[in-house]
Amino acid sequence: ADEDLESVPLPFQSISASSRELRWSDTTPYVSKKKLQSWFQLSNGNWELAKIITTSGKELVISLPDGKVLKVKQDSLVQANPDILDGVDDLMQLSYLNEPSVLYDLQYRYNQNMIYTKAGPVLVAINPFKKVPLYGNNYIEAYRRKTTESPHVYAITDTAIREMIRDEVNQSIIISGESGAGKTETAKIAMQYLAALGGGSGIEHEILKTNPILEAFGNAKTLRNDNSSRFGKLIEIHFSETGKISGANIQTFLLEKSRVVQCNEGERSYHIFYQLCAGAPPSLREKLNLKNAEDYKYLKLSNCYSITGVNDAEEFRIVMEALDVVHISKEDQETVFAMLAAVLWLGNISFTVIDNEDHVQAVENESLLHVAELIGCDLKDLKLTLSTRNMKVGNDKIVQKLTLSQAIDARDALAKSIYSCLFDWLVDQINKSLAVGKRRTGRSISILDIYGFESFNRNSFEQFCINYANERLQQHFNRHLFKLEQEEYIHDGIDWAKVEFEDNQDCLNLFEKRPLGLLSLLDEESTFPNGTDLTFANKLKQHLNSKSCFKGERDQAFTVCHYAGEVTYDTTGFLEKNRDLLHLDSIQLLSSCTCHLPQIFASHMLTQSEKPVNGPLHKSGGADSQKLSVATKFKGQLFQLMQRLESTTPHFIRCIKPNNLQSPESYEQGLVLQQLRCCGVLEVVRISRSGFPTRMSHQRFARRYGFLLLDSAASQDPLGVSVSILHQFNILPEMYQVGYTKLFFRTGQIGVLEDTRNRT
Ligand code: ATP
Ligand code: MG
Repeated sequence: ADEDLESVPLPFQSISASSRELRWSDTTPYVSKKKLQSWFQLSNGNWELAKIITTSGKELVISLPDGKVLKVKQDSLVQANPDILDGVDDLMQLSYLNEPSVLYDLQYRYNQNMIYTKAGPVLVAINPFKKVPLYGNNYIEAYRRKTTESPHVYAITDTAIREMIRDEVNQSIIISGESGAGKTETAKIAMQYLAALGGGSGIEHEILKTNPILEAFGNAKTLRNDNSSRFGKLIEIHFSETGKISGANIQTFLLEKSRVVQCNEGERSYHIFYQLCAGAPPSLREKLNLKNAEDYKYLKLSNCYSITGVNDAEEFRIVMEALDVVHISKEDQETVFAMLAAVLWLGNISFTVIDNEDHVQAVENESLLHVAELIGCDLKDLKLTLSTRNMKVGNDKIVQKLTLSQAIDARDALAKSIYSCLFDWLVDQINKSLAVGKRRTGRSISILDIYGFESFNRNSFEQFCINYANERLQQHFNRHLFKLEQEEYIHDGIDWAKVEFEDNQDCLNLFEKRPLGLLSLLDEESTFPNGTDLTFANKLKQHLNSKSCFKGERDQAFTVCHYAGEVTYDTTGFLEKNRDLLHLDSIQLLSSCTCHLPQIFASHMLTQSEKPVNGPLHKSGGADSQKLSVATKFKGQLFQLMQRLESTTPHFIRCIKPNNLQSPESYEQGLVLQQLRCCGVLEVVRISRSGFPTRMSHQRFARRYGFLLLDSAASQDPLGVSVSILHQFNILPEMYQVGYTKLFFRTGQIGVLEDTRNRT
């Protein structure tokens, strides 16, 4: 049975882990009269602390907190920790590192507003969904002076600052977790601490003001989170030699453009649209021909205009003020608002059928007029762009009329492009304003706030990219923590070769291998004029079916075995989203505008067309923009990100949401457990289990357990006492290692001693 347990595949399995615990304790009288509690899993999956009433052989009689008495098999119980370990602030201190014990510890703390807990080197943060009294100047001061050691974002940020200065190495704080888990709030809390400690030049105020701006343009209400970030973000904060903040740089990843033209019932488009409609002063309203949010079709689709507890007009004022702070000129601000209004009006443009082949033409109404006016183009050009497409066939140019769905696509593509270029341009402007002067030291702390692993009923291109990114980050996480473990063992002179961890290289290869990997095949199919989502899916099945991380599914679907679990992707829309085409006609239109758009577009479009693509990407028709596919661009960004992160000392924060209702005081064990597994917290625990996670100095060990020695005449020095104890208790040699300064134990071993100690 031993071998079976050791070869249990990921993800971490509660049953095997727990039965291993029990097996070890088989050799010890763990079910003694005094040791009475164990975990028992109810049929709903929740764990309850069970009192053991009697035992006979492998069968036990237990009572549950509600008074129920049950007869159960011994192996359905999981070892609970002694009461003295209730609410420990580092999960590594638990003697029994099993899932119910971890869940209980986090819940115990959460119920007392202690939302932060360490899992070894990782900080776990559970979203309280309410104001908790853990922040502000007094707390910052306490962490700065180190008068408290409670786990906290402040503490981890403080460590980052100290290590940056001490080791002269750049640092990173990598925050992950599901939507709504609290990543963005956590990032802001870390920024607050950095600003408090590294402030002084004034630039820290500017840096903090980027938050409301980016949230207005890049966040939206979704079903999961009223303030969901629809882009990934890395902010690199630079420090001068004296440890003061000297500037910052922001990089964004994969903004969800589609939200501009469509979103689910009950969700919203980007906050800024509603803020503008609600908060624009009269003069601006008039200039932009603004109406109410309800009057715009793009906003109307989801039938949701407001967010409980949020005043959009007030938020608009805050954003305008923030734009001033980061030195976006009034003129540029007005351009930004005009572009937003143009996007809204674009959505109101409608079409009429003009012939019996279903070709259409844009209707000349106020919407068309306002768009032309706002972006500064000729009304006729706009109308033509939205109704026709110029094609090159050989040397001949032909003009193709569009059908209704083609015209709507062209209109929406234009709206999405304007918005995403605007977003990128804004980030560029902010970066210019925050740029570090010539006297840069090169020292920095980066904070990464990036979407966590996603697995829904239906997973599309977005999940594909997001999960690929998480796969990369997970490898970074594993390798780093693995290295840390090894260093500690080497440092204490113990045999470290026994530390093993599950590498996800196979899965990364599945994505990245050329020419037969998911990304290459996607790009290849995207270049074929006749490529469809179906031919793409078939090609994957044809080339990748032999790979261990890949499974072809029925129809257009395929499954990838990610480190966090299997995800089935539906390829519908993959090619179009990957190509992300804007027709040449639209590009020409935008570059001919008299507003600032050409400027906004110029850099964006140029950088995209300058870079050669692996094989010509857009041969079809020859008239489309030459640019990188979305997946390839994302992969490039990701590689760059990983390169940057690899040169830093990372600090990891894993955010967890305790329920799906955005509600305080509800802790759903199953939901928490699933996230702990996905974001690798239990993986850290697993890595440690395969090593020697419990560490105690010889002195402390001798002090604590020395009195249990039967032969008290034994050696007096701590090391000697320690070794005698180990022998007396028959602790198997493979269960511990003796280091220069410390004893290293496998999980559960101290628990055995502790039980004996408590009974004595
Ligand atoms: P997404 O991936 O959708 O962007 P996220 O992980 O960034 O999600 P946040 O927007 O940071 O999630 O958090 C969601 C909400 O949870 C916040 O708007 C806030 O109401 C609450 N919240 C998160 N962290 C805290 C905290 N430390 N204290 C109080 N409330 C919090
Ligand atoms: Mg967020």
